[in-house]
Amino acid sequence: MDFTLATLPQQKTIALVAHDNRKKALIEWVTKHKQLLSLHSLCATGTTGQRIEQVIALPVRQFLSGPLGGDQQIGSQIAEGNIHCLIFFWDPFEPMPHDPDVKALLRLASVWNIPVACNSSTADLMISSPLFTQEHTREIPDYEQYSAARASKT
Ligand code: PGA
Repeated sequence: MDFTLATLPQQKTIALVAHDNRKKALIEWVTKHKQLLSLHSLCATGTTGQRIEQVIALPVRQFLSGPLGGDQQIGSQIAEGNIHCLIFFWDPFEPMPHDPDVKALLRLASVWNIPVACNSSTADLMISSPLFTQEHTREIPDYEQYSAARASKT
């Protein structure tokens, strides 16, 4: 795989997702960081988004509920370059019916090299970074090269 550089914008679109047993922790985290989060655009899986909007007066774009496709919708937005940061409090103690979707979401976040926090301590470190409110250049797969190389092979 060849890589190229792409810049995450200063004002980011941040996806928020929490499994049921982790929703309370995510809501506490969002409440604690409401001021910094208000500088960015927020989106979330359905239930997580509804719960966040109930407690903080910030608009949250809501995708479908995670088990009904919301994780996949967020993954596709990451691949399209429309989501720049993922805060995903997944539950390490419960098996999930949509585990393949969870894995796919985390995989796409790695493929497109966006910042991901899976627990509150990582999310605290992420939000306290100066890069949280600055442009940030990182490596991503070079899709043009990838596509041209595949087309010439087939
Ligand atoms: P939910 O989905 O926000 O609709 O609960 C989260 C998930 O389980 O991925």
